[in-house]
This record gives sequence, structure tokens and C-alpha cells, in this order.
Amino acid sequence: MISYAGDKQIGQMNIDYFSAELTPISDNEIELLHEKVDIDSRYALPNKVNYCKECVISNQRPRILFSEDGTCNSCKYWHKKSNKINWKDREAELRELCDKYRRSDGHHDVLVTSSGGKDSVFVAHLLKYKYDMNPLTVTWAPLVYTDIGFRNLQASIHAGFDNILCTPNGLVQRRLVRHSSIAIGDPFQPFVFGQVNLPLRVACEKGIHLIMDGENGEAEYGGDPSVESNTSFSSDESSKFWLSDFPVENLYSHGFSHEELELYLPPDQTTLKNNHIERHFFSYYYNWRPQDNYYYCMENTNFACNPEGRSEGTFSKYASLDDHIDPFHYYFSLLKFGIARATSDAAHEIREGLLDRNEAIALVRRYDAEAPSERTKSIFLKYTGFNKEQYSLLLERWRNVRLWDGNGSDAQLKYQVE
Ligand SMILES: [Zn+2]
Repeated sequence: MISYAGDKQIGQMNIDYFSAELTPISDNEIELLHEKVDIDSRYALPNKVNYCKECVISNQRPRILFSEDGTCNSCKYWHKKSNKINWKDREAELRELCDKYRRSDGHHDVLVTSSGGKDSVFVAHLLKYKYDMNPLTVTWAPLVYTDIGFRNLQASIHAGFDNILCTPNGLVQRRLVRHSSIAIGDPFQPFVFGQVNLPLRVACEKGIHLIMDGENGEAEYGGDPSVESNTSFSSDESSKFWLSDFPVENLYSHGFSHEELELYLPPDQTTLKNNHIERHFFSYYYNWRPQDNYYYCMENTNFACNPEGRSEGTFSKYASLDDHIDPFHYYFSLLKFGIARATSDAAHEIREGLLDRNEAIALVRRYDAEAPSERTKSIFLKYTGFNKEQYSLLLERWRNVRLWDGNGSDAQLKYQVE
């Protein structure tokens, strides 16, 4: 068994936040916990598992497309990034966009969705110092901040940015996380609701007409190839790719009130229309390379990597560091699709030319199926209020039986990359 350094430091301080008692889990949620989800039909997964011949991703990643030569659409897109896309032309388009919105009256002219992580801070810093924009960075707080995540957010703010940090009602969010773990199979979805919709609300309130997001994940990491050249997503596309086709409004019928959901909702259609907001991916304009973003932020914004070493479930030390619940997002992916965080990290490091495929396979086989540490599990249980029996039911509800032998802690993946 692989030991995880963080196990030695139980996050007692974080657990102490959650002393308020949650509304008990509903009868409907209990009923759902006893029902297994048909993962294959829900995500339209291919029956036979194949791995990309260039990277390590499998065809079980939702929406990813493999061509006849056995290569995934993300690897194909990365070849295009090197060979076909003219980045000088794309930069000219970015300058044109900035010229259209740049203001000289002191008002913020671009809103950058920012976690304080390497990618979003890279975008904000470049917009400010290379393209002479005046960004407002907007942060939707993680579910349970890690010390390093909060430290990196502070470092980014002190590198010269105005920031709005929005932290929603913790008691409501804990219920939302519990519900989305059961209903969507991803505890992280409430965070995504906020991350997607808060920038729209703030842009409307502040009269900012340009929002810059980081990367188009469908293109960069594998997904629907029809949107790989998009500068942004339509509202239908963002609902599909970001919100799991589960609009926030669905939660009204699951015991959540408008008052509780207010901050998670997008602005109403009339407000949105009247404010003429454009939302763009920076990765459309710039040759996106995660490791370069990391080095850039170390140098320019005092960004620090994970002081505990690698993050759980992977070998990486510098990505997605800010949330104690984060490993569960990837663990649910492992249950449903048989691939998780190390696969994703290794795949893009191959595309970036940082790993060869054999090295990547070894890393995936070592770390991808690592269960969340005892510390992370105890934070998750305290946060959501699941008891141990409910927690076991939850994992089995989302375990894809086509990809796993057995269940519980003895379960083994049937397929691994080779
Ligand atoms: Zn690939």
C-alpha cells in the first residue's frame, strides 16, 4: 500500500469548521443510495475499453473521440497546436479583443475567473502586464480550503490584483455536496455551479463586459471535438460540459430554496442580455502548456507547489491544490470510468513532451487507483454527514460493474493501461 505523507497530519482544524448539524439525509436520498446507477447508459460509454496509443487516456472518458488509428482527440488537437494553429494570428485576435474592451477610466475591463492556481493567475497576470488590461479576479471558494490553496490565492492577490472571493453559506453547501454526491456522482458539482455562474453575476453587477476563463477542457484534455476551436461555449454547451446537464434550478425539487441557491444561479436572461457579456477561453488565443504556467507563476506571483509532495491519486505537485475534497472528485471518476487523476496528469504531460508513454504508464499504474487518504475521507464524512454505511452505499452506487471486479475495499479494476 502506498503511504501518503498527509496522513500524518490529520486536518483537525478543517474538521472543526463543521460542528453545525446538517439537516438529516432525506428519505428520497436514502432510497437513491440503495439504487445502482447504470453508468454506461448515463454517460454513453463504449463497451470495450481502449487506450490511446499516444497518451494513456481511455475511451471511457465521457465524450472523448478515438480516431481509427487509435489516437484520442486531445492528442490530435495537441498536434494541431504544434503544427497547424498560427499562434501569431491568434495573439492578434487577442489584442483585438483586448482593444475592444480596454478602459482608461480606472474601471476593471476584464473579469478573470481565478482560483489562485497556476493557470488562472497566469491568465490574469498576462492580461494585466502584457496586454495592459485592468483585470478583476473572481474566486468561488473551494469546498474546504487547504492551507496551500489559500496561501496561493493570497500570493496572487499580492502580485497586484483586485479580487472578489465569494464563500457561500457553508451549511447549505454541505447539503448540496451530499446531494450531488448521491444524485450526480460528483461531490464537486456545487463548486462548479458557483465557479461557472458567479463570474456572470459579478460581471453584470460591475459593468464588466469581458470574462476570461482559462482552458477549453474539451480540447486540451479530451472531450467533444466539435468545440475544440471554440472561443467560448454556448449556454447549451456550458450546461452539458460544465454543469453535467443538471441545471441548478433542478435543486428546487430536492428540498433547496431559492434563498439557499441564489449565489449558485446565473443572472436572469434579461440581465445577461442587457449586459452584453462575452466569455472567452484564454487557451484559444495562447498555446496552453500547464507546466509553463506553473513556472511562470513561480517566478512572477510567488506561487508555491504542494508542500506535502505529490497530491493524492497522482504524481503531480502543482495542480489543483486548493480543496481538501478534491480527491473525491477524481475518486468518483475512477469508480465510474476506471480512470482518474494520474491518468489525466500523465496524459497531458505526454502531450507536453514531459513524459514518454512508458514512464506515464508506470505512474498511472502506481497512483491512479489510490483511494483517498484517511485524512481526506474523514474530512469528507464530517463535511457531508454520511455515516459509514451510507458512504459504502454511495461508492457502490457509482461503481461501474463493467470495469470493476468485486466491491468495497477489495474491488479491483479489470483494465489498466499497458
Ligand atoms: Zn491521447
